[in-house]
Amino acid sequence: MTTEVAQAGVAESGVAAETIRAGYEAFKARGLKLNLTRGKPAPAQLDLSAELLALPGAADYMAEGVTDIRNYGGLQGLAEARRLFAGLMGAPAEQVIVANNASLALMHDTVVYALLKGTCDSEKPWSQQGEIAFLCPVPGYDRHFRICEDYGIRMIPVAMNADGPDMDEVERLAAGDASIRGIWCVPKYSNPTGAVYSDAVVERLAGMKTAAADFRIYWDNAYAVHHLTEEKVEIANILEACARQGHANRAYVFASTSKITLAGSGLALFASSKDNVKWLTARMTPRTIGPDKVNQLRHVRFLKDEAGITALMERQRALIAPKFEKVLEIFDEKLSDVAGVSWTRPKGGYFISLDVPPGCAKRVIELAKAAGVELTPAGATHPLGKDPEDRTIRIAPSFPELEEVALAAEGVAVCVKLTVEEKGQQRVSG
Ligand code: PMP
Repeated sequence: MTTEVAQAGVAESGVAAETIRAGYEAFKARGLKLNLTRGKPAPAQLDLSAELLALPGAADYMAEGVTDIRNYGGLQGLAEARRLFAGLMGAPAEQVIVANNASLALMHDTVVYALLKGTCDSEKPWSQQGEIAFLCPVPGYDRHFRICEDYGIRMIPVAMNADGPDMDEVERLAAGDASIRGIWCVPKYSNPTGAVYSDAVVERLAGMKTAAADFRIYWDNAYAVHHLTEEKVEIANILEACARQGHANRAYVFASTSKITLAGSGLALFASSKDNVKWLTARMTPRTIGPDKVNQLRHVRFLKDEAGITALMERQRALIAPKFEKVLEIFDEKLSDVAGVSWTRPKGGYFISLDVPPGCAKRVIELAKAAGVELTPAGATHPLGKDPEDRTIRIAPSFPELEEVALAAEGVAVCVKLTVEEKGQQRVSG
């Protein structure tokens, strides 16, 4: 390259850098207040279930089997509620537990029960067996990691691919280390990448050798029916695969209606082998005399059957899918030509995962905050809040109005460009 051409190149990139900075300053000057932090349903989504607030009605309090829902009892949940969700959970109704709101609470409790009492296959409580570790596909869900962190469970990150975790690594680790007792899995439309576990991955998880006899798969199927496209992706049945492979007790399946009906007043769902259901109901016995059956009956009256769930989720999709399309459209337009930047195109769920060049995520989030766009903290997708490469940003477009989502996505794109530009300058001057 001649000196003249090189100088022209530097001058040109200087102009580009100025344009990017001016774009950022202009965005900041608008004084916006936008928030893409958490995967909350928008008010319009909650409105779809407004009828729930009036159900079941003052005269409707007898459930099947002459259960008075106003009274104590029914630890495993109403029979009609367990039947309603049996298909979604991939288990017979007898092996489903319907509990109060928040499947996270069930995940938390099953971990704590295993620590204090042991699973139904444990010789001793986990807490009496030295160090306990969980495999954590990354990027993953921060609240899973938080449970481990809170109870001193060591987290071992494993790479998450488009078809599930890196199974060579999972098999190697699980077979070689008896302190590893579990793995967190969001098998469909995973948080935050939208990845879907392939049949081969499900089969390998079900069949793999584990050094610990009481190894558990925490199968958090939070987005089982949360499609964003016409295609309704289905995954293999983990409970059937585990049973077929001779590990019937290996998987705990969780889901909830938090993002089907009301996030703050849904039903949490658990399904597993007969032994695990017996184990969990035994653990729940000292804790509660029974769940909120009024909420269960009102869900049964409102959703009615699987077709009712499908119809409601179609209406949810009509509200939420355009927001995802808008973010993707803006990223495609503004970021396609930025080296080292990529993002996922989920077919369901609540998140898009945006990857920026290593060492850039914190700075993007800092710039966005200063410009009025709140993003999930950098590192949240990794154990202990530490993304070793500082590159993953979780985008949650569900809550704001469509116009705000568009503005926020533009703001994020400007911040990514500016960060990449700044890093480039640092490299040149360094
Ligand atoms: N699991 C995953 C993967 C999630 O993304 C969320 C919500 N962000 C939850 C569980 C929380 O579910 P619940 O409301 O049933 O506790």
